[in-house]
Amino acid sequence: MRQWDVIVVGAGPAGSVAALLLARRGYDVLLLDRKRFPRAKACGDAVPASAIRILMELGLGPAIAQSQFYPLDGLRIVAPAGRIVDFPLNAATDGAQPYTVPRDVFDDLIRRAAIADGAAFEIRNVKRAIIECGRVTGVVTNEGDSHQIKARVVIAADGGGSALVRELSRERRQDSHRAIAVRGYLDGFDEIPNTVEVLLNENVLPGYQWIFPIGPRRVNIGLGMRLDEYKRRGMNLLRMLDVFLASASVRARIEPGATVTGVSSWPLNFASQWPTLLYDGLLPVGDAAGFINPLTGGGIRNALFSGVTAAVTIDRALRSGTVARRNLQPYIERCRADLRRSTRIAYFLQRSLLGNALLLDSLAATFSAAQKWRSGPASSRPKPLRPA
Ligand SMILES: Cc1cc2nc3c(=O)[nH]c(=O)nc-3n(C[C@H](O)[C@H](O)[C@H](O)COP(=O)(O)OP(=O)(O)OC[C@H]3O[C@@H](n4cnc5c(N)ncnc54)[C@H](O)[C@@H]3O)c2cc1C
Repeated sequence: MRQWDVIVVGAGPAGSVAALLLARRGYDVLLLDRKRFPRAKACGDAVPASAIRILMELGLGPAIAQSQFYPLDGLRIVAPAGRIVDFPLNAATDGAQPYTVPRDVFDDLIRRAAIADGAAFEIRNVKRAIIECGRVTGVVTNEGDSHQIKARVVIAADGGGSALVRELSRERRQDSHRAIAVRGYLDGFDEIPNTVEVLLNENVLPGYQWIFPIGPRRVNIGLGMRLDEYKRRGMNLLRMLDVFLASASVRARIEPGATVTGVSSWPLNFASQWPTLLYDGLLPVGDAAGFINPLTGGGIRNALFSGVTAAVTIDRALRSGTVARRNLQPYIERCRADLRRSTRIAYFLQRSLLGNALLLDSLAATFSAAQKWRSGPASSRPKPLRPA
């Protein structure tokens, strides 16, 4: 039986970026996914500049430029009582800027780069890990127990519902550290060009609705809510989406005859519940590790960061001759150091602010007063739906 250096389970951003880096460093890498690519993924499709920067550092800048992602230059927040606050989203001096891009396009760009750099890709549904003498030594796929694939180390990049992490971990994720979200696509919508809209509707707190343009007259529209509150109030995600679409302010912007397509939902695991991440021979990355920002629900940047960090750690461990827990420990330390501050702030704001409509309204009033004072009445006018 062939022995791979590394098996990466899951070809989302976290898995593909790890496969790419390890293949570049000369390892035999097998990237597995249960889906045929390009594949869709439930997401708001908003990719922050910090995620683009990681990809640029890996040399994917030219591929991104050719792919015509939809550039963003503004964030509009609508407070519960309706007050609008606009923020600019500026490109950084190094050229990294935020975009929206459907995940079939985004994820496939990274997966193809990993293959171009030498990773092998196969469509396989991984059922469980092979564990020998307390160490993960490969995976079993759904072709039956006899179909085993062996490797010196396994990366679990199989997303929020990770079969591998469920098998290995005894911890239960608490609903207060999770969310549930749904999105759909609308063709024929009066979007605000290049601007993502976040609507803090009282019925969805702690959570928000979004309208993210992904091209002219095409938007990704959805909502997400913290899971404990969602369950406590007996909410229904699809019904919530219907209510959002039927609200007067949204309905007025939908062209006659336009329909919502691609409705899809998925749970999100917040980094505010820090899970066990170390097993002999296996590292979880991205959503499998539960690295989503507990305020925004964004996880692509942290998925890429953890994929890169896992690859660097595994490279060192393999060169030292063992992928035992202690040699994989630097992965945890780097991820913790990177995520701790942003996660703490995000968690604090989510708990103290995101569920409190009155506080959000008064904060929005303070912000817009400060913006008016700083930049004068003309520039503080809200961005119009379409430029005149
Ligand atoms: C509705 C919604 C909206 C979101 N919006 C945003 C946003 O706008 N911006 C943002 O930054 N983040 C957003 N997120 C979070 C973001 O989608 C994730 O953080 C990101 O996809 C994590 O990447 P990943 O590579 O860890 O996992 P994934 O992208 O989930 O990839 C996991 C891969 O593993 C494969 N897989 C799963 N199980 C198996 C198996 N058993 N065998 C083989 N393959 C398997 C899957 O097919 C998939 O391709 C959103 C999430 C949701 C649910």
